[in-house]
Amino acid sequence: MSSPRLSALITGASKGIGAAIAVQLAQDGFDIFLNYRSDHTQAKKVAEQIEAAGVSCTLLPFDVADGDAVEKQLALLLDAPPFVLVNNAGFAADSLFGMMDDNSWKSVIDVHLNGFFNVTRTLLPRMMRKRKGRIVNIASTAGQTGNPGQANYSAAKAGLIGATRSLAVEVAKRNILVNAVAPGFIETEMLDGLPVDEIKKRVPLGRFGRPEEVAYMVSFLCSDKAQYITGQTFSVNGGIYAS
Ligand code: NAP
Repeated sequence: MSSPRLSALITGASKGIGAAIAVQLAQDGFDIFLNYRSDHTQAKKVAEQIEAAGVSCTLLPFDVADGDAVEKQLALLLDAPPFVLVNNAGFAADSLFGMMDDNSWKSVIDVHLNGFFNVTRTLLPRMMRKRKGRIVNIASTAGQTGNPGQANYSAAKAGLIGATRSLAVEVAKRNILVNAVAPGFIETEMLDGLPVDEIKKRVPLGRFGRPEEVAYMVSFLCSDKAQYITGQTFSVNGGIYAS
């Protein structure tokens, strides 16, 4: 009798990097739980691509920053927790520090850092019981170095890298591997409005990355080939920063 397929939950996967990760993990053979916040049309298009890979896709729209919603929506995953959790949901609200309002600071910390906490805390006890799992946190070059106008975003992403390290040490004995991936500039809606030609000149490879190029790294970290890797941060950034 063949064993049931493993599953993966990806947050913020209606578009961009999260969608590319979801499609790649589907091609790797995982059933997909696809979280997003509001873009139902786009999420359904991603679901079609996932199902075309021959696996299932369950749409789970909720705000990762809303702890009650997370608990409620993830209840259906608790009996059979996913093998993979990718904490990817996020957005930026850039502003120079002197002009940053409460909402820009709190909303960015809320999604990236509290979102990671809400989703991971809900699933982790069940993953630990299964004694297997992979958690991949999507950080950013901004969490490794500084970007003007991004103190909120850098703080959230640096916090995520720190949480990755500590959690990895905590759960290693339960065979749960926790890593972060830090993309540089990747072609998604998040770059809308930025001076792209100027920024490209700063990237040693001379171009922005594609969402799929981040997804390949996540795919590797969730594969059998990555069984001795935990607590690390992997940059996918065209050489713009070397840690
Ligand atoms: P994107 O194209 O704007 O997609 C963001 C995704 O996150 C969407 O699916 C969105 O859902 C979802 N989302 C936003 N807030 C959410 C919330 N509160 N709850 C649940 N889902 C939420 O962004 P992206 O560029 O792919 O970014 C993905 C991740 O990569 C983020 O963590 C970002 O910080 C990180 N990153 C991006 C870059 C880059 O250059 N693009 C670089 C470094 C790191 P809806 O649209 O359906 O509401």
